Amino acid sequence: RLELKNICKEFAGRQVVSDLSLSVAPGQVTCLLGPSGCGKSTTLRIIAGVEHQTSGEIWVDGKLISGDDVRVPPEGRSIGLMFQDFALFPHLSVAQNVAFGLTGSKADNTPRVGELLERVGLSGFDDKYPHELSGGEQQRVALARALAPRPKIMLMDEPFSGLDDRLRDGIRDQTLSVLKEAGTAVLLVTHEPHEAMRMADEIALMRGGRIVQQGNPYNLYNAPVDKEAAAFFSDIN
Ligand code: ATP
Ligand code: MG
Repeated sequence: RLELKNICKEFAGRQVVSDLSLSVAPGQVTCLLGPSGCGKSTTLRIIAGVEHQTSGEIWVDGKLISGDDVRVPPEGRSIGLMFQDFALFPHLSVAQNVAFGLTGSKADNTPRVGELLERVGLSGFDDKYPHELSGGEQQRVALARALAPRPKIMLMDEPFSGLDDRLRDGIRDQTLSVLKEAGTAVLLVTHEPHEAMRMADEIALMRGGRIVQQGNPYNLYNAPVDKEAAAFFSDIN
């Protein structure tokens, strides 16, 4: 379980994340949904540990990983990342890409790599290279790579925005079922209400660095907190 408590972030005296509190349970998907510049990616970078909050705490499974006196480095946080521009390594095969975050020898890792490729529907793709794969296949390899070290938490920043419309819904659904099966707590960033409605158990609607409304997708859709929130959901049907 991931818990954020009163996270604030300032850049040069400007507050870009304000008093953000949120919790994500294992096997659940929470979406940070909001317009460009509202602080979504900054929040994920803070959780990943590549950026630091000005104040507030981050807890994983009841353990403080970041606060005033504690700062666990990114590699010690058991957090997986999937970002739109988080490309595969072009000079490594599919199997080498998936094994990238694993310690241990190639022989040790082979069963785990095989299991992950099977789970994302790419059995037998081990020796192919990224340029031989479609966009959707590359995305599934990236998912296998992110899951390889068995992270408790998965952070995803617009991971499907590079895919064409025809592929996107299928990949979304498949990604979701793989993550649910692994029991991972997922925090997914998107600015697309449709994506949040399709994937989230819980949506945190952000604006100007703050969460303005939080709840299950149908609550947000049926009872938006204000006109701006209503307008945001109005193109979905
Ligand atoms: P988008 O949907 O466009 O990706 P976002 O919600 O992810 O937007 P962030 O990238 O978190 O937005 O940025 C939030 C605000 O913080 C923006 O106004 C941005 O300009 C500012 N910001 C982000 N990183 C820095 C930085 N390193 N230094 C100064 N300002 C920053
Ligand atoms: Mg962003």
